[in-house]
Amino acid sequence: MRVIHPPNQVRPHCSWRRRRVRLCRPLRWLPLGVVLGWSTAALAANEAIPAPLRCLQRYYGLAFELVDGRPFVVLPDGTRLPYDDGRVKSFEERLNAPDVEDMFSIPYRRGPVRPVTTPDEDPGRIRLEPMFAAIYGKTPAEVDLVPVRLVGQLLRVHRKAAPAFRRVDERLKRLLAERPALRPFLTGLGGTFSWRKIAGTGRQSAHSYGVSLDINVRRAHYWRWQRPPKPLRWQNQVPQEIVDVFEAEGFIWGGRWYHYDTMHFEYRPELLDPTCYP
Ligand SMILES: [Zn+2]
Repeated sequence: MRVIHPPNQVRPHCSWRRRRVRLCRPLRWLPLGVVLGWSTAALAANEAIPAPLRCLQRYYGLAFELVDGRPFVVLPDGTRLPYDDGRVKSFEERLNAPDVEDMFSIPYRRGPVRPVTTPDEDPGRIRLEPMFAAIYGKTPAEVDLVPVRLVGQLLRVHRKAAPAFRRVDERLKRLLAERPALRPFLTGLGGTFSWRKIAGTGRQSAHSYGVSLDINVRRAHYWRWQRPPKPLRWQNQVPQEIVDVFEAEGFIWGGRWYHYDTMHFEYRPELLDPTCYP
């Protein structure tokens, strides 16, 4: 069993404990480990770490661990969540009870805005709730909110996502200077932090963590508002340039979903990094 700690949780020393090898800054020191005679098994095991787990470490500082060759993500309180729970699931089951692998099962694709016509192509709607709760807060009081300005409007967002929101603001200011006609999409911003369940589900909304933003609701389309409700027909007015700005700073857009929610942007840098997929 091997625990790999993120850089901000580096242990003061490396030690053996039972069959467990604790490695400090393992990725950086692996070449040195070879020189010092660390086992090739450890290196091979490192190759067994799936790309998504490396990305959860890179973007969220989460540790990972191999237990008898099976990878897990390790939350700060020590809870282990399996990378692959071994179950074959429908889309609904992946939404309601995902493992880490499920979160990365639908690639998020940037590029020209286009209708999403493949049923259940919803990259980013599958969220491993205990993981996000551990990263951002398990209760409203735990969510560490700070003020940021976006296009002149004061918002409250999670401290961890605030730098990305500020970079979006810089980009939007430059965009609006060139294209003032886009401003109506970015007025009356629909909200960031709101501790709540997703409408019609028992799942916690990404707005609960202060990492999501709804832009002007009056310029948006949402699949639950569609009448008649079925079949789903993707609709959108949000311009490409606005989508590009958010995606450039690690935000996914709900207009890339079959279950479209075109006002919704959400900080999910791991999904915008093509190296993070299995
Ligand atoms: Zn939203």
